Amino acid sequence: MYRSDSHTHTTYSADVPDDRPATPADMCAAAYKMGLSYFAITDHYDISPYIDGFRQKFAFAQWQKELLLEREKYAGKMYVAVGLEYGEPYLFPAGIDETLSYAPFDVMLGSVHYVPGTTGYLTFPFHECTEDERRRVFDDYLDAWEQLVHTPGIDVFTHPTYPLRYCLRKGVPFSMRDWEERMRMFLAHIVSRGCGLEFNAAPYRVPDKGIPDHTTETVLRWYKEAGGEILTFASDAHFQKDIAAHHDFALRVAREIGFRYIAVYKEHKPEFHRI
Ligand SMILES: [Zn+2]
Ligand SMILES: [Zn+2]
Repeated sequence: MYRSDSHTHTTYSADVPDDRPATPADMCAAAYKMGLSYFAITDHYDISPYIDGFRQKFAFAQWQKELLLEREKYAGKMYVAVGLEYGEPYLFPAGIDETLSYAPFDVMLGSVHYVPGTTGYLTFPFHECTEDERRRVFDDYLDAWEQLVHTPGIDVFTHPTYPLRYCLRKGVPFSMRDWEERMRMFLAHIVSRGCGLEFNAAPYRVPDKGIPDHTTETVLRWYKEAGGEILTFASDAHFQKDIAAHHDFALRVAREIGFRYIAVYKEHKPEFHRI
């Protein structure tokens, strides 16, 4: 079976501590040991005005040098893809073109991570909100996604139900029915643009107070029903141990939903492998 991981991070991502063995070299060595044929490093590039200093922390020239060195090292054995996880790119319409000119990118991921004006969804106190406040946060998130899916330069869209996983972890109930209409519209738009969606397996690594997270599967089903065929596998690993985690499980679920191929991106073009 062709094994790939299309979304991982290294110490260049601000949420990976510098003292972890997660340099590009560390991550590639671990991925190769696991028998991956394709390994994408997609470090965080969050340039949201709501957070300080992320952009400044990212040493592009050094990052690119290290990644290209790894690509060279594994040439013919494992494809090391150069990518970024671009956070809130619609806030900086000129920024993405500028970024794309920096390096020979294979894939650009598009994400929404931050509650406008405040903190990340990861730490947002969903459990302390009223129903109305929560609904407003979700509406704002879906407004952000509306902008995200129209952003040029993005190849693959990440974790569409991102805030919901943190609701689950805080034991907060929600209904996917409130999300269905708009999310289906976004997915149809992604399909019409010829872009991809990822199977982000990160929620399966964290116990969510015993509540199973079916949101990922639900959205993938909607994507398939919209005619979506470009599906990538994403461990979203920030450490070596999580590389390709839940890979086989994710492919099994994808098959059950009706997908027959998993995609990997090379030079912004999807390449399909039968699952
Ligand atoms: Zn993300
Ligand atoms: Zn990520």
